[in-house]
Amino acid sequence: MTTQFDPELLYVECSRCGQPILWGHGMTSKLLRMAGIDMATLDERCVIMSEGCPACQPGETSFTTQVIRLNREKDDRTTQPAAAN
Ligand SMILES: [Zn+2]
Repeated sequence: MTTQFDPELLYVECSRCGQPILWGHGMTSKLLRMAGIDMATLDERCVIMSEGCPACQPGETSFTTQVIRLNREKDDRTTQPAAAN
């Protein structure tokens, strides 16, 4: 029983414009491989931050990516206060 996490399911966000990035299937795996990130260490709590995206950097095809792991610990409630008004 091998349940390998599919890196294509990871949420990718652009760190420049803050938009979620939806790129072609296989792109996330490709970028992770290029960045030398071990996909076996990834799970659904990871998000990928990209230094730019096709929306804010048209013509660019390769982006520097960084994997952020979200901690779901009970004390990890240090979210920024939302200005809700
Ligand atoms: Zn962007």
